[in-house]
Amino acid sequence: MKDHYGRKINYMRISITDLCNLRCVYCMPEEGIEKHPHQKNLSFEEILELIKAGVSLGVNKIRLTGGEPLVRHGIVDLVRQIGEIPGIEDLTMTTNGILLPKYAKDLKAAGLNRVNISLDTFDPVKFNEITRWGHLEDVFAGIAAAKAVGMHPIKINTVLIKDFNDNEIETFVNYTRDEAVYVRFIELMPLGESSGFAENKYLSNDEVLKRMPALTPLLMPDKTGPAEYYQLPGAKGRVGLINPISKHFCSECNRIRVTTDGKIKPCLHSDYEIDLVALHQSGMTYQEILLQAINEKPEKHHINEDEKQLLRNMNEIGG
Ligand code: SAM
Ligand code: SF4
Repeated sequence: MKDHYGRKINYMRISITDLCNLRCVYCMPEEGIEKHPHQKNLSFEEILELIKAGVSLGVNKIRLTGGEPLVRHGIVDLVRQIGEIPGIEDLTMTTNGILLPKYAKDLKAAGLNRVNISLDTFDPVKFNEITRWGHLEDVFAGIAAAKAVGMHPIKINTVLIKDFNDNEIETFVNYTRDEAVYVRFIELMPLGESSGFAENKYLSNDEVLKRMPALTPLLMPDKTGPAEYYQLPGAKGRVGLINPISKHFCSECNRIRVTTDGKIKPCLHSDYEIDLVALHQSGMTYQEILLQAINEKPEKHHINEDEKQLLRNMNEIGG
């Protein structure tokens, strides 16, 4: 369905857990997140009902995210059950990749055709630093596992961080020469407890084009997401730029987000949330609640104008 500004909303992103096996410094505090006693994760039944309601309103694309979606117990079953809902045309996941060697085969068989895998550096020491304890080789094992089972295209999400990985822009772009992957640079967003980290480390994605002038824009008439795609001459893969800060893409926004604890976020960059569980208990159907969320999507975000710090951490929202 269309929102008040004529945008077709067909994409639901669901954070299915706020737990994670890493602690990326821009996403989560080191000690993890303490849950309030009344906070509860949406159950699989609730997630499935919500998706069915979304489909009745025109949603045809689902992304499972987190936290780390692969640490949620029963993930393969959840994927299978979502894949069986008539009307879902695209079912995807954003993951740090670490558990893909364990799950990729079953996930593919359950209907997950592609994944986005996060990777901010090719340097094992820096990887350990940014994730607080991760091992780089685990991510590459995850990428290899996804490839081996035929997930395609594999999209690598790279948060561009000043004085951390801007000296690796060339390496990331050159990775697409021989690998048929999409490397997507994402601008660092100031969110939650990690806003302090983001303060001096933001770098516009324009930097990528400045450093790699050989990148040529790709015209993609079937483009569905916010990434603008480029390619090196003769490269097998592509380079995407996702610019939520420098050039907001609000006029093309096609999504609503659901947090782990069942709050619908009409806009990523706003603290305004709709309490799915409470409204459902008060008698509203999931369809009515989703309609409210779609109708309350703002025209655009004001992240560049507001000094206000957003409260939620990314691991609860899912990116
Ligand atoms: N654990 C999974 C992963 O890392 O891919 C899924 C959840 S993670 C929150 C989803 C995406 O959000 C990742 O690509 C991550 O790099 C990105 N992300 C987290 N915090 C961010 C921030 N402050 N600014 C920009 N992107 C962020
Ligand atoms: Fe975990 Fe993903 Fe957040 Fe890193 S970005 S801490 S992997 S949820």
